[in-house]
This record gives sequence, structure tokens and C-alpha cells, in this order.
Amino acid sequence: MSLDHSFLKAFHAHREAGDLFHDGRHTAHEVFQSSTIDALLEGIYDGEMTFGELARHGDFGLGTFNALDGEMTAVDGAFYQIKSDGRVYPVPPEMKTPFAVVMFFDPTLTVDLQEATDFDGLTKALDAAVPSRNIFYAIKASGRFAEVKLRSVPRQEPPYPPLVEVVKSQSTFTLHDVEGILSGFRFPDYTKGINVPGYHLHFLTADKSAGGHVTAFDARDGKIEIDVTADFQMELPQSGAFLSADLTSDSGDAIEKVEK
Ligand code: ZN
Repeated sequence: MSLDHSFLKAFHAHREAGDLFHDGRHTAHEVFQSSTIDALLEGIYDGEMTFGELARHGDFGLGTFNALDGEMTAVDGAFYQIKSDGRVYPVPPEMKTPFAVVMFFDPTLTVDLQEATDFDGLTKALDAAVPSRNIFYAIKASGRFAEVKLRSVPRQEPPYPPLVEVVKSQSTFTLHDVEGILSGFRFPDYTKGINVPGYHLHFLTADKSAGGHVTAFDARDGKIEIDVTADFQMELPQSGAFLSADLTSDSGDAIEKVEK
């Protein structure tokens, strides 16, 4: 894999080009997030934001659904719901999300994956190549995978248990020799409490028949696209359980258990 490009140079060149708006309605390269990861960890599984509203902020990213009804991945301009039965469903605009991270993906850099790599290898290579650990990266890797390990979470009924309890009954799927798209983000370490520090990736097969939250993979070949950005917008719930939730505790251990 060759990742010896100057990310910083490309980042600056892109910025100087003045390409700040796609169409005047939204800012290019802006990562948009609804609610916080800690709220999700605490069992705040019902949000007010519809996917119709979310789509105004991006058509690429990840998240979940009200009642924690599966994993969300957004790629190629559409939202997909991967339920705990492992199947992929379309997402109607009136559906709501308690937690989602999206953007209008416009890659600053494209890197060819020239040799097989796993999750650890890919993230180490990306970490070594990115200009700073303190800004945001959206990552889209499309290609062929020898193996992808995925999970999805089962729909919950109130009163909602915390996420660490739910993942004990999560569904796991292992796909072999499959084409698809990894999509997600690298958030800075200091965003702990707000989002998942480090890499968070979801997956969708090229035929859109399977997917989920990625726990491991072996990529054979493919193309990695990266959207480097320093723009981040967060919209918090203004009603419901979020307002009275206790979000004071350190969630570091819980995030490890839930996401890895
Ligand atoms: Zn996830």
C-alpha cells in the first residue's frame, strides 16, 4: 500500500481552490453529527431527527435508528438499515435517528490499496499518513475483501438498557470473498464522549445484500478515498431523555466494549 502522499499539501491545495460549497445549501467537507455517543451508551435510543432532515447534512456516513433498530450506513447517496437479522432495508425519510454522523463526501485524496491489509494495518497506515491526529477524516474504502466481520444490534423496547448490555446480544456476521464499501470516520482522541475516538467503520456489500458495524476485515485490494476536514457541526436533542441524562461519567471503557 502506498500512502506516502502529502495529505497536508493536498488538504491546503483543496482549501485554496475555494471549493467550500456544493450548491449553496450546505458546506462541503463539514462533518455533521446528531446527538452524542455517550447519550447512546446511556440508552438514549430515541431521537427527534428524521432521515429526511439528516439528508440535508450529508448522504455519507453511519449511525443507528430509533429503538436502536440496527446499524445505519450511508453510501453513494442513499441510507441503508442493516437490522440484527443481517438483512439490508431501505430507509424512509420519516424514520428517525438517535445518533448519526454524516457529510457530503468529497474526497481530498485517493489512495490505491496495493496489498492486502487488515483493520489494524489500514488504520496504522492511515494514521502515519494523515497530517494531524486533531482534525477529522471521512474514509471510504471500496474493493474486494477476503473477510469482513460485522455486527448489528437488536431493536430495543423501553425502558432501554445501556448499550454495553445490548451488545451482549448483538448479531455477528462474517462475510467471505465479498466486494463492498467500508465507510466511516476517524475522530480525534479529544472527542471522547461526543463520538468514537479513532476509526469507526460500517460496511455494505456491493450488491447491497449485507452489511453492518465493522469489527475486523481482510482487504485484498481496492481504493481508499479520504475527505480531510476541520469542520464539525453537532446538533443536540432539544427534548426527551437526552436533557435529563447523566452524561458526566468517563465512557472510555464502555466505548471499547461497544465498538471494538
Ligand atoms: Zn458502528
